[in-house]
Amino acid sequence: MSILPFDQRDGVIWMNGRLLPWRDAKIHVLSHGLHYASCVFEGERAYGGRIFKSREHSQRLRDSARILDFEIPYTVDDLDAAKQAVVDRNGFSDCYVRPIAWRGSEMMAVAAQNSTINVAIAAWDWPSMFDIETKMQGVRLEFAEYRRPDPQTAPCMSKAAGLYMICTISKHRAERRGFADALMLDWQGRVAECTGANIFFTRDGALHTPIADCFLDGITRRTVIDLARRRGMEVHERRIMPDELAGMNECFLCGTGAEVTPVAEIGPYRFRPGNVARTLIEDYATEVRRAS
Ligand code: PMP
Repeated sequence: MSILPFDQRDGVIWMNGRLLPWRDAKIHVLSHGLHYASCVFEGERAYGGRIFKSREHSQRLRDSARILDFEIPYTVDDLDAAKQAVVDRNGFSDCYVRPIAWRGSEMMAVAAQNSTINVAIAAWDWPSMFDIETKMQGVRLEFAEYRRPDPQTAPCMSKAAGLYMICTISKHRAERRGFADALMLDWQGRVAECTGANIFFTRDGALHTPIADCFLDGITRRTVIDLARRRGMEVHERRIMPDELAGMNECFLCGTGAEVTPVAEIGPYRFRPGNVARTLIEDYATEVRRAS
């Protein structure tokens, strides 16, 4: 099956304050964002035409840019309205939303203080995968070769395009070897996250997840912690070393794209997707469609 490339679709894309025909939303090859990775983005989902946690994502986009030393020239309210306009004008119900901000072409060297900041928002159909029995089989992961960098080495709290370089390499290697994804350790050898999702484990009914101090503290991660606590589960955010995985019962990933996805295997460790993951898959499915 051939998939229509993303630059050859129809619809509208919001760019710098205007809705453009999809194919006209272009940038010049001499853009700082492309050469020097001065680029931040978001990944969001709409359910039933409404973007889940839109405000939190808009705020994170602005925060990500500030960490890279640039200011997005739109408020959270502006971004929220623009995102909703993109969903509405394309006529989407369940879709993925991709806001992105990058430095333009005024300065083409490392220093780029005077560059204009560009912002675009696109969206595409992406029905959520709530076929629970398929999900409950669990995905297989390998350990990634790359580690999440020390916060003194990279701006790891920003959802910055440059930080995804090691994720793409790791995910390619995992898929080549027949795995769904790779689990990345952090710079100190502790369990961190996957290439585009956070990770949770269960032991004796309690949730255990790494402290998000050198990787993205996902909006889904925080939602899952909240849902689990509402169910009366204990949630421990703590340092987790890889050899502890032998004593864990369940494991699952979570993220805007992954939603809640059970894991069956990580390297030599095996997990049995069970009731905790099933409950949180269902609670998450309800939460994202709940009228706010
Ligand atoms: N970690 C990484 C590296 C990601 O790309 C994502 C997806 N944005 C997440 C975690 C999960 O974040 P969220 O729940 O906010 O989508």
